[in-house]
Amino acid sequence: MTPEQLAARIRTIPDFPKPGIVFRDITTLLRDPEAYAAAIDAMSAPIKLWKPDMIIGIESRGFIFGAPIARDLGIGFVPVRKLGKLPADTISIEYDLEYGKNVLEIHRDALKPGERVVIVDDVLATGGTVAGTLRLVEQLGAEVVGISFLAELPALGGRARLPDGIVSAIIPF
Ligand code: AMP
Repeated sequence: MTPEQLAARIRTIPDFPKPGIVFRDITTLLRDPEAYAAAIDAMSAPIKLWKPDMIIGIESRGFIFGAPIARDLGIGFVPVRKLGKLPADTISIEYDLEYGKNVLEIHRDALKPGERVVIVDDVLATGGTVAGTLRLVEQLGAEVVGISFLAELPALGGRARLPDGIVSAIIPF
């Protein structure tokens, strides 16, 4: 399935969750089993070359793509979650969203120093969420060797906030 065919399965909702935001809704892609599998395969290809020890999924749509990728690669999965959801000792970070502010957390013992990790989310918008996640992972001493998205909104300039050469996005909108 080509990136254009995958893009055609993502629904566009204008003015959600606020006026002026053009929301890319992946639920229409997920209910098509061929498209969901093709999206996982397309995202996995560059991730395999980065040879990660662990996949980091960002709540909640990063879980939908990150967990099956971790399963395909035979490696572990670590969730980064919104404030107050993780039960054990955590570290946290506050960051700016395209539409608001948020706090993300990771378990303090989720990553070991030197582990190679790839961060996964569905959509790269302003890059604030993933830049915050990157800092969390680095605070634990792990090495971010790649960042993978299904889709990217290049007009919002998120890629410029991230390290050069380690960002993959299958669909540019
Ligand atoms: P950002 O921090 O601005 O890169 O936003 C990324 C997070 O918000 C991702 O987890 C996306 O799922 C979600 N998001 C932001 N903007 C959009 C959008 N226009 N369409 C779909 N998801 C979005």
